[in-house]
This record gives sequence, C-alpha cells and structure tokens, in this order.
Amino acid sequence: METTIENKKIHTFEKAGLGKAPFKIIGTWSMPSKALAEKNPTAWNNALREGPKNAGCCQFCFTGIIHHFIIKSADEKIFHVGSSCVNKTFDKKLIGEVKRIKNEIAREKRAEKKAVERKARSEANAVKGLELLNEAGLSKALEIANDENFEINESNKWAFNTLKDVVASATKWGSLSEKQINFLKSLIKKIEAAPAKESQRLEKEANKKPFPVNAGRVKVEGKILGFKEVETQFGWSVKVLLESVDGWKCFGSLPSSLDDAEKGDWIEFTAKLQHSGNDQFFGFFSRPTKAKIKERAGE
Ligand SMILES: [Zn+2]
Repeated sequence: METTIENKKIHTFEKAGLGKAPFKIIGTWSMPSKALAEKNPTAWNNALREGPKNAGCCQFCFTGIIHHFIIKSADEKIFHVGSSCVNKTFDKKLIGEVKRIKNEIAREKRAEKKAVERKARSEANAVKGLELLNEAGLSKALEIANDENFEINESNKWAFNTLKDVVASATKWGSLSEKQINFLKSLIKKIEAAPAKESQRLEKEANKKPFPVNAGRVKVEGKILGFKEVETQFGWSVKVLLESVDGWKCFGSLPSSLDDAEKGDWIEFTAKLQHSGNDQFFGFFSRPTKAKIKERAGE
C-alpha cells in the first residue's frame, strides 16, 4: 500500500513561529518622521503610542522599519513586518496585497504633494496679481471689487461684474496684461459715471408714457434700437424697432427712404399706430410716410 505524503510547503512566517497560515494584512502603520521628533517631541511620542506594540522593527527579521504591515495569522496572532520580508515569502496573495497598498500610499502622497503645490501656486498668484494691480495704479479696481456694500443697478451692473471677473482672473493667474489694464481703467470710468446715468435712466423711466391708443396717423419721432430682417410673402423686408421720445417702443417696416439709417439714429415719420394689446408701452406702426433721419448716431 502506498502512502502519499502531502506536499505542502510551510509558510515562511509559520516556520518563524508567527502563527498559522493563511496570513492576512489587517493594517499598515508608519513611524512618525524624525523631523517631527525634533520639532515637537510630545507629538512624536503621541504618534508613536498609536502604533503597534514593539513598533520600529520587523518581527520577522528584527531590522528597523518605517512602514509596518500588520498581519494576522489564521490562529489570530498579530505581528508586523516590513514589505521586503513579505516579499521573501512565497505567498503571492500577501505579496500582491502589499504591492497594492504601497501603490495606494504612493498615490496618496503624490496627490497630497500636488495639492500642497497647487495651494502654494494659487497663493503666490494671488499675491502677484495684487502687486500687479497696485503697480498699474488700479487699487481703485480692487477697492470696487472688494466692496461688499457696492450697490448694483441697471447702469453699473455690467461694468461691476466685468471688473470683478478681470480682477479675479488677475489674482487667479498672477498676471495682468496691458489690455486688461486698459480695460479695467475704462470699467472704473464707467462705474464712476454710472450714478448720473442711472438717475437719468430712472427719470426717463418715470416719465415714460404709454403707447398712444386710437391715435390714428401721427408723427413719430424716436431712436433706432435695432433692425430685423423678416421674410414675407412679398420677399425680404427690413423691420425697425424704435424708442419714441415719450419712451414707448414701436415696431414696423423701415421706410425705404431710410435705407441707410443705422442703430442709434434719430428718425421721424408719420404712420398709423396700432397698440399691441398686452404691453402698454409697445405697439406697431404701418404705412410710414415723410420719413427722414433727424440726427445720426454719434453726432
Ligand atoms: Zn523584516
């Protein structure tokens, strides 16, 4: 009768009396740094106390280690070793696990380093951006951008928001181009001129008259706000949107004699008005006659 001897390799750690296979990694722990020991001995001692018992050396080979792999045997013995001693076993699973953990730690360290670099870079950029703004004589732009009590209205909204964006970009990237400098200067001027413009706008708004109802054919005088090309059954036709001297707006075909009119021009004509019905400040005009340009935009 033949007897078969079970060909079973004894695990390296089991041979060393560290417990019975299989082994599994239940945690990792690293020694606090020497720099911390010098800078803050109490913190270093506290950190050390959180480590495993007999930390500092590998319990397989007894040499000093920094990174500890804490391992538990099948019979619940717990010990720690360095990664090189795990690699000395033939335990592929354990070796693979150590490799995975080391990669994970390395990845975390790289991410941490990058985050620190990123933070330093953004802080340096912020300082540089402020410096450049002050050097360019734009402390006023900073003042406006940081003014929490700035009152936004129709007349300064765009300039204020745009100025804030440009200042934010300068402190984000730590750079300020000649173009941005000039742009900020023009925005400051706009913001400074806004109060007068706003009171004018409010006054105009307050004096705005509703669109004339049942007016028939009347003389219309107003500023061109824009054009629109529309296709009709007779072909393409240019429509014009006007703001009248009284503040109401009207829409209709551009008189052919005003072909060269441009946005912003003041024009006048006689036409039939038709109220739009749902907006008391808006209506349409039709069959305009005696049209002429009263004043060109920019004159
Ligand atoms: Zn070792």
